[in-house]
Amino acid sequence: MSYHEPIFAMSLDPALLLDPQGVVTRVNASWQPTFGHSADDLVGKPLLGLLPPQEAEHLGQWLAALPADGGPQDLHTRVRAGNGEYRLLHLRAAREPDSGVICLIARERWVDEGERDHLRGIGHRWDALVHCLSDFVVTSDLEGVVLTINREVPGIPTDQLVGRPESMFTPIAPDERPALRQRFAHVIHTGETLTYETQVLYPDNTYGTFESRLGPIFDGATITGTVLVTRDLTRQRQAEEARRMAEQQIREYTIQLERSNRELERFASVASHDLQEPLRKIQAFSDRLRQKYEELLPEPGRDYVNRMQEAAKRMQDLINDLLMFSRLTTKEQRHAPVNLNKILTAVLSDLEVRVEENEAKIEAEGLPMIEADPMHMRQLFQNLISNAIKFRRPDKAPVVKITAEELPARGRATSVIMRVSDNGIGIDAKYHERIFGIFERLHSRGKYEGTGVGLAVCRKICEQHGGSIRVDSETGEGSTFIVELPLRQERKHQYP
Ligand code: ADP
Repeated sequence: MSYHEPIFAMSLDPALLLDPQGVVTRVNASWQPTFGHSADDLVGKPLLGLLPPQEAEHLGQWLAALPADGGPQDLHTRVRAGNGEYRLLHLRAAREPDSGVICLIARERWVDEGERDHLRGIGHRWDALVHCLSDFVVTSDLEGVVLTINREVPGIPTDQLVGRPESMFTPIAPDERPALRQRFAHVIHTGETLTYETQVLYPDNTYGTFESRLGPIFDGATITGTVLVTRDLTRQRQAEEARRMAEQQIREYTIQLERSNRELERFASVASHDLQEPLRKIQAFSDRLRQKYEELLPEPGRDYVNRMQEAAKRMQDLINDLLMFSRLTTKEQRHAPVNLNKILTAVLSDLEVRVEENEAKIEAEGLPMIEADPMHMRQLFQNLISNAIKFRRPDKAPVVKITAEELPARGRATSVIMRVSDNGIGIDAKYHERIFGIFERLHSRGKYEGTGVGLAVCRKICEQHGGSIRVDSETGEGSTFIVELPLRQERKHQYP
């Protein structure tokens, strides 16, 4: 070792000698200034015992594999020293052939040019990424001084934040600052990242709502500052609030509407029910008057009785229709699979006399099976087809066409559109909505019989099944009533 001696002692690179068992026997003068351990700290101790277990294992394997012929070996490694700091090292070691003593030279490795370019590239990409974020990204030191911010906060110039004392806290609404200070202290003491919502107070005294994440910045094991990533939620929160209020208003209106509808329906039901009794009396006494005293009455008297009976009959029709209409909502619907072809056949059989009298032609396509209340379906077709015959043009025999088309939604048919069209008198566009109202009629009774309840009933039936009805028509050009109904009843549809 003698001729090695001066080189070992004088080397600018830290070096040490290990006996074959890995115990430090000599340390040169450069070791302490570089790594902080004095000769006394090291000599007589196993080198690997000074390192954390994982690092010790890695370095131990390398030393054990040193060739016995004295050839030197190099290792570029990152070693975590006892104080937790990482050091990039270039190690060179050789084993003396005879004694097995290991000479180890350690040089602190500086990042080479290639690595520096690589890191600079990462830096540029990182800057670009942070710049493009719509969130604000703010870094600070341990005292809460803002060091960087990726873009300007509206109304708060960046130079009022960067480098200013406590600038991490100044944009925050005063009453929320204590909570932020606590979070800040928590992050720098524990290294945890916190997520929270906070209010910013702008110089114009308006508030903004921000969702934030505050986390630590580490240098090795040491926390050197914080990073804050924060997102402006103000508009989103305002929109949510506006939507919440609108929904609340709609809910209130719906409740009011439901209440007044229920009251109206109860009124219609009670009124029509109670009117039946006095009406029956009028009919009964006018019948008796006619049967017993008709001979005694002069001609005008008989005419009066006749008119009275006609009026009573009309009142009876109105009451019956009103009762039927109000029962649509008061009675529970009974849904079942319904073959609409069978319903149509039954309706046409009921209307046989009328069809014949008017020499009407009915053309129907195959209709589907649907889930519905069978009585209501019968009522729907009955009303539409009898109207199509009733509102005929005097010079043309009625031709009524009934078609059906299944509407697919996401590949599967979920509803059916049925059209009942005629070649009758047609309806002016301005009445297309009105005719579905109760007691709405467009003609005098002398011209066309009816109470004006039929289409109101049709609309209520459609809505109760989750469907709809509308008309497409022009005066003199016939009418097409378009009914859309779901094929299945997923839930109970109740008219509000
Ligand atoms: P009603 O048939 O008892 O008069 P509806 O409620 O069934 O009552 O119809 C309301 C009004 O709509 C009718 O009075 C009529 O003016 C018009 N209407 C209904 N169906 C037709 C049709 N197919 N063609 C022309 N007008 C019609």
